[in-house]
Amino acid sequence: MGIAPNWRLRKQRYALVGEVCPECGNKIFPPRDVCPHCSEDARVPFQFSGRGEIFSHTTIYSPPAGFEEYTPYTVALVKLEEGPIVTAQITDVEPENVQIGQKVEMVTRKIREDGAEGLITYGYKFRPVLKVA
Ligand SMILES: [Zn+2]
Repeated sequence: MGIAPNWRLRKQRYALVGEVCPECGNKIFPPRDVCPHCSEDARVPFQFSGRGEIFSHTTIYSPPAGFEEYTPYTVALVKLEEGPIVTAQITDVEPENVQIGQKVEMVTRKIREDGAEGLITYGYKFRPVLKVA
């Protein structure tokens, strides 16, 4: 149909879709088609819950070009419920209130805006879970 690559890219940007290894059952993110645990083919899509906890974090005061207006912001390694660790920006919380072990959930947010063209890039970030469901 010609839309598959786009569909896959969108899925990765707006939801945490990785893969599950049919051989050893490990969950994989980002998808890489080969299991990092047992090196078998792993191409079965797996939708992650988007929930996890902060494994480590750092606050960025000197950002890469294009991100200046967003500083300071916090980037963390988030350990997902299913096991993999992803790097993501933390939102909806002051940098000094981010803590290791804090429960977080994925949200879709604006990542950056290119002033000249008004191009807005969306992607996932994580925010603290306010209430435990
Ligand atoms: Zn495996």
